Amino acid sequence: MPLLVKNGRIITATDDYRADVYAEAETITRLEPDIDPTSLPKNTAVIDAAGKYVFPGFIDPHVHVHLPVMGINARDDHASASRAALAGGTTTILEMICPAAEDEPRAAFETWSRLAQDGCCCDYGFHLAVVRFDDLAWSQVRELLASGAVTSLKVFLAYKGLDISDADLFRLLTLAKENGVIVTAHCENADAIEAMQRRFLAQGKTGTEHHEPSRPRIVEASGVQRLALFAELTGAHVYVVHTSCDAARRVGTEAQQRGVNLWIESVIPHLVLDKSWAERPDFEGAKYLMSPPLRDAAEKDLLWESVQRRQIATIATDHAPFDFVGQKDLGRADFTKIPSGIPSIQERVDLVHTYGVCGGRIDLHTMVDAGSTQAARIFGMYPRKGTIAVGSDADLVIYDPNHTDFFTKTDSHSQVDYCAYEGLQRQGRASAVTLRGRVVARDGRFLGEAMAGRRVPRKPVHFD
Ligand code: MN
Ligand code: MN
Repeated sequence: MPLLVKNGRIITATDDYRADVYAEAETITRLEPDIDPTSLPKNTAVIDAAGKYVFPGFIDPHVHVHLPVMGINARDDHASASRAALAGGTTTILEMICPAAEDEPRAAFETWSRLAQDGCCCDYGFHLAVVRFDDLAWSQVRELLASGAVTSLKVFLAYKGLDISDADLFRLLTLAKENGVIVTAHCENADAIEAMQRRFLAQGKTGTEHHEPSRPRIVEASGVQRLALFAELTGAHVYVVHTSCDAARRVGTEAQQRGVNLWIESVIPHLVLDKSWAERPDFEGAKYLMSPPLRDAAEKDLLWESVQRRQIATIATDHAPFDFVGQKDLGRADFTKIPSGIPSIQERVDLVHTYGVCGGRIDLHTMVDAGSTQAARIFGMYPRKGTIAVGSDADLVIYDPNHTDFFTKTDSHSQVDYCAYEGLQRQGRASAVTLRGRVVARDGRFLGEAMAGRRVPRKPVHFD
């Protein structure tokens, strides 16, 4: 069905103007000051966007949906996570394929692909985590890259058992460079964390308040330093996920300044919450346990400043939904056994608008750039995704900046049993969300039952 969005204020990473948007066959075909609806096919769906912003569909470049860890599975499936994404204005997600150390990379890729194909209501893609380094695994990773099935990888510098040696890191980055593929990385020092955790537990420090001190900022900065070193040696392009503090951000920026091709991501929990949330009594803090951890409140201001300066390229979520009851409580007696993650896939866009734009920390163009455009560029989807232009997919967020209420679990489409932002003020909400020209959500309600998400074709763009 053709779609006309009338009277809106179009906001992209670079432009701000009034225009009508017309889409047919999933694609934006006209972008003009005043399109006469009577000149269009009779079955055209018309959305009046007067008084609203029209953003390109937001992209979350770092989510976990199918996530088997510690003998349990994260609570969302592709249907629930993608409905939450769409209701909140995110039309494309990039999910981490996180195999266990013994899994074959190709089988993992096929498992995740099948699950997303069967359940995902928004458009999607993957980053493949490489955690196995025998000859069979290397040959499968090489084939997945050569065939174009995989155009971004993930490495963990952080977790014992899933981490990577310097020799393998050099080898993997060299392979990535040859294939024009970017490598995303969780940057912390795995050995340092393990030693610190042992020390804390031996001292009887088992509560959630010890999670942050067990992985201090310097441990994260050191991980970024190590990634930047090997990126510099190999010429590979790298992407630091979930940067939580200015010390780590600075190491990344310094690497960029000496010519390393490195991009920095932050995630919304680090921009809105701080470590006092993870220190809440009665084990409530477990809801706010993620890695790298929530930091001092002062770090939030520094991160927002780096977003506005465009040193931090993207704002993602690291959505990882574990129930408070029955999952987080595996670590009641030992904080190292709490599954990590703060569900945010539905709330991200409104949190960026509320605390970033309305908080006076970033402008609307930066919101779009960090929430959509940069992810599209870095991960080979631009300009199909990430902007509003003739020829782009008609993924649009018609956004009411004057809506006010509070975040609450009642509004959440995620299956997890809590809302991490419960009771926080919300300013702004998507009035309508379209995915390739179809209205899939209105005022937080999901309407896209009949529509399946599609895997976004992604080119390797990291050769130079
Ligand atoms: Mn991580
Ligand atoms: Mn993650």
